Amino acid sequence: MIAPHGNKKSIEHVAVNANCYICVSHKPGKDGYTQVKRNGKYQRLHRYLWQKEHGAIPFGQYICHKCNNNWCINIAHMYVGDQKTNMLDKARAGTTHTRILTREVVEAIRIWRPRWTGTNVQLGELFGVNERTIRHVVDPNSHAWRWVN
Ligand SMILES: [Zn+2]
Repeated sequence: MIAPHGNKKSIEHVAVNANCYICVSHKPGKDGYTQVKRNGKYQRLHRYLWQKEHGAIPFGQYICHKCNNNWCINIAHMYVGDQKTNMLDKARAGTTHTRILTREVVEAIRIWRPRWTGTNVQLGELFGVNERTIRHVVDPNSHAWRWVN
């Protein structure tokens, strides 16, 4: 018999600006979403958490983020949408990542970088910035992002 939660890795997060929860115990997958292994298969962590709270996701529906942080796992920031709203979500999120490096993104990069086993280039792709920006953000001697401290 397997004890409740036995051999399941617990999910830990930190809250960043605007109360977005950034997972620090699990790594993101290639699609940029945090993955969790439950029942023998990997699934997107935010979908897993939402379903635990609300039950199965209606067929054909998506779990979208009001906060535009696709890696956010705060259930209160999620809503059920269709493909159209999901695409709008992605478009907005994409805009945020590429044009303005928000406080949330800077904080998330700093949280994720020490746990990231890939390269800065790959991490940059996840956040929609180049590797130079990643280096600046995580460099304690860099003056570029001091306003976040
Ligand atoms: Zn959020």
